[in-house]
Amino acid sequence: MLAEATKPAPTKAKETKAQPAKAKPTKPAPTKAKATKAQPVKVQPTKPKPTKPRTTKGRALYTVERLAGEYPGTAAELCELAFEGSFQLLVATVLSAQTTDQRVNQVTPALFARYPTPEELGQADPDELEALIRPTGFFRSKARSLIGLGRALAERFDGHVPAEMTDLVTVPGVGRKTANVVRSVGLGLPGLPVDTHVIRVSGRLGLTEATDPVKIETDLCAMVPEAEWGALSLRMILHGRRVCAARRPRCQDCVLADFCPSAHLPVAQAATRRRVSRPPATIVQ
Ligand code: SF4
Repeated sequence: MLAEATKPAPTKAKETKAQPAKAKPTKPAPTKAKATKAQPVKVQPTKPKPTKPRTTKGRALYTVERLAGEYPGTAAELCELAFEGSFQLLVATVLSAQTTDQRVNQVTPALFARYPTPEELGQADPDELEALIRPTGFFRSKARSLIGLGRALAERFDGHVPAEMTDLVTVPGVGRKTANVVRSVGLGLPGLPVDTHVIRVSGRLGLTEATDPVKIETDLCAMVPEAEWGALSLRMILHGRRVCAARRPRCQDCVLADFCPSAHLPVAQAATRRRVSRPPATIVQ
């Protein structure tokens, strides 16, 4: 009996020692409560991630996609010059330098009726031709180019407009811009015409830092699929006329504003940042 009574005593002593150990787990409880409160903060990164392209080529491809949605159609459909066939397009493009397409469209019906073929244009009386195209400006220079153009097509290309760039640029009044218009709009061939609007819009978008049209053409063609060259140029021209104007770009209405590095910047600051200078006041052919 005595032996049985003494055994429970040490058991009680052990329970007493274990009590402080039980008290410790009570401390982490508040910590768990704090972690629960912090969870909503961790949810914040689930907001939509920005989709800005990170490279120049990425911006170029975004531009192709966005402008295609804004200005649908082929290069021929997007061109605002009125013409039938590549000869009329070539003549209209030469006349479009330093004036509007609408102004050109006002004079070309009478011009094409009077000189329907390259042969007849090549034999035109300069004074009569100048009078017909006078509203387009630079009419003496343009008349000389058109007469030379008509003669060249008649004498060297059998009265047809050549398709190759190397041939086109040998025709009087035809430079790379005009040749690329004929190739892309008139013949459905690869060609990216660079005019004052393409120079300005591509510069503001940071697609090129060049100011020379040929270098800009090279830069853009290196980033954009060949099949998109002509339509991209026409869309940039329309966007430059309607939204990304030289003096007052309407960035608030622009479909490219979320990734354009010049969006909402003062015009002078955007030009300086992208090293874009004013295009030359001379005729770009
Ligand atoms: S965001 Fe502004 S500067 Fe950039 S392309 Fe559009 S209109 Fe031009």
